[in-house]
Amino acid sequence: MAFATIVTGMISAGSFVLSPLPYASICYTLIYSFAAVGALWLTGHLASLGVALLVCIYSPMVLVGSLSAWRKSTDLIAANARSERQEQALAVLLQDFEHNAGDALWETDIVGKLNHVSNRLTDVLGLKQNEDNQHSFQALLAERCPDDAERLQILSAEGQPFRDMRLTMTTAKGVTYLVMAGKSLYSATGIFLGWRGVLTDVTEKVRSEQKLRDLAHTDSLTALANRFHLRQALNKEIEQNGPIALLCIDLDRFKAVNDNYGHSVGDSILRVIAQRLRSCVDQQALIARMGGDEFAILLWSQAAVKKVDELAHNVVDTLCEPIMISERQFRVGASVGYTVSSGSHPSLDDLLIQADIAMYAAKESGRGRWVAYSPQLGEVSRRRLSIENGLRSAIDNNEISLHWQPKVDLQTWQVVGVEALMRWHHPELGHIGPIEFIPIAEQCGMIDKLGRWALSEACRAGTNELAGLTIAVNVSASQLQLFDYVHSLEEALQQSGMAPDKLELELTESVLIDDADKALAILNEIRSTGVRLALDDFGTGYSSLSYLRRFPFDTLKIDRSFVTELLTKDDAKSIVKMITDLAKELGKHTVCEGVETVEQLDLICTAGCHQIQGNLIAEPCPLNEFSRTINPDLKPLQREI
Ligand code: C2E
Ligand code: MG
Ligand code: MG
Repeated sequence: MAFATIVTGMISAGSFVLSPLPYASICYTLIYSFAAVGALWLTGHLASLGVALLVCIYSPMVLVGSLSAWRKSTDLIAANARSERQEQALAVLLQDFEHNAGDALWETDIVGKLNHVSNRLTDVLGLKQNEDNQHSFQALLAERCPDDAERLQILSAEGQPFRDMRLTMTTAKGVTYLVMAGKSLYSATGIFLGWRGVLTDVTEKVRSEQKLRDLAHTDSLTALANRFHLRQALNKEIEQNGPIALLCIDLDRFKAVNDNYGHSVGDSILRVIAQRLRSCVDQQALIARMGGDEFAILLWSQAAVKKVDELAHNVVDTLCEPIMISERQFRVGASVGYTVSSGSHPSLDDLLIQADIAMYAAKESGRGRWVAYSPQLGEVSRRRLSIENGLRSAIDNNEISLHWQPKVDLQTWQVVGVEALMRWHHPELGHIGPIEFIPIAEQCGMIDKLGRWALSEACRAGTNELAGLTIAVNVSASQLQLFDYVHSLEEALQQSGMAPDKLELELTESVLIDDADKALAILNEIRSTGVRLALDDFGTGYSSLSYLRRFPFDTLKIDRSFVTELLTKDDAKSIVKMITDLAKELGKHTVCEGVETVEQLDLICTAGCHQIQGNLIAEPCPLNEFSRTINPDLKPLQREI
């Protein structure tokens, strides 16, 4: 028994001692067990055999026990190694984070002092040596961010986690923007240990956001507010229900300058205009560039709103002063419209539209003017808008037609020519005269389409129903500005097969105003195609007589206003006579427009005019009715004078 006790003790002790080396443990246990069982067997005692049997059961159990101890200890070692590795990796990451990231980690103890001050935290807060030992973290922050001191109270005791706490720190270097997040720390038994969190310097981000916001609110060319900013400011004022005045300013001749002298000159002019606008208003105003050559001024102080008319006047005067750019002088001028509203405002868009309507009214009344909005203007503008919208589809809907008015030669008393006059029947507004819709078409860019249609229709009629007559077609000054006008003219002639000398283009003096040299070049080009040129409404414009010599006009059309006054005003008679004589001297034809009475005709004949046109001969009529007027019996008329 003693032998068996010693053997089992040695088996178990050895096996467990060797358990970290499982093979050694197995070998040891097996050798000892076999040896013990063999020795017991050899004694031949029955009792020893029984003990040998017990050893046989005992030693596998010891073996299983030692192997499981080996497995547990190996797992433990592996787990320890793993956690050590993780700890190392974490330490490296944290170090890296603290060195490179914009964030600083912080952790306070139960009294609120910092447990550990990383370099990053020192940098962000500009901590002095030992400062963290003397003051709590909350005190350090509150000293640097006095405006946020109240919110920082949260760090004085345990509390709810927080994030995105924005702090503004003012230091000698300037303003730094910080964002802080933190949460309370507790021990395993739930005792409050302090706070831990992250402090991030977001100054760069805030600055770039600010910059983006500024950019989104500013016009980059003039540094004035942009349309978006103006709308925001206007909205704010509308909400506050105070008085508001809104001025809309549009430059009068900017487009011509921009087209002729290039965009860099245009940009310089816009900058000067912005500067001048600044000089016109005090600080209680927002000046904005709405886009292109359009500006706006918003006033909201009672005193400024009261003086809005004075300001509008001032703006017009200041902007019509010449502008010097690269030793060249430009005069762009501006038209101003404004609307005033005190309390219970219309909507933002209504105010903008009202100022716009007033501005267009100012433009129409002759540019370089200022006009205040009134509801009547609104009515006019709504009609204008319908016309503008209607024009877009008028040709396609066959609403536009040409009427024809004959011209009679006073030598032969024959109809020698005919003028094409545009007519429009609007589906809702009814008949609209060219005096009303042509200027709108010019402004909204539709005149090109209308003009091309009129030209091709006139050429078509000129080679068919009206063959043999000189066909006169009215052309707007803005049509000539289009770079391919001469090309489209040649195309119309070619397509219709019309003889160029049977076509006459009627232009008004406005064609000569903006850029006389350019106009001269285009007119010469047109003249070289063989097409004739007539100066329409002559005498009403402002062209100097020297233009008559320079420009290749074949015909002068004496304006109806002189013809109307022929019988009542002596000077009208002299003007008609003078124009006729001058035209003869210069080798040009004269046509008197708007002849309505025989008496007028009599005086015109005496003055020596070549042709007449007017209701006395025939009113403008559609083509199908024209055959009746084409060969009128003019004998009685001739006899009467
Ligand atoms: P305009 O070229 O000077 O045309 C003469 C205007 O005087 C026409 O007015 C004509 O109907 C009118 N008229 C002619 N004889 C008499 C008369 O004896 N008494 C009175 N009271 N009026 C007379 P309308 O047709 O209303 O055209 C007005 C202006 O519209 C034209 O003046 C012309 O400048 C412009 N216009 C007409 N058609 C076109 C066109 O196709 N293109 C362009 N760009 N302008 C056009
Ligand atoms: Mg005409
Ligand atoms: Mg005319």
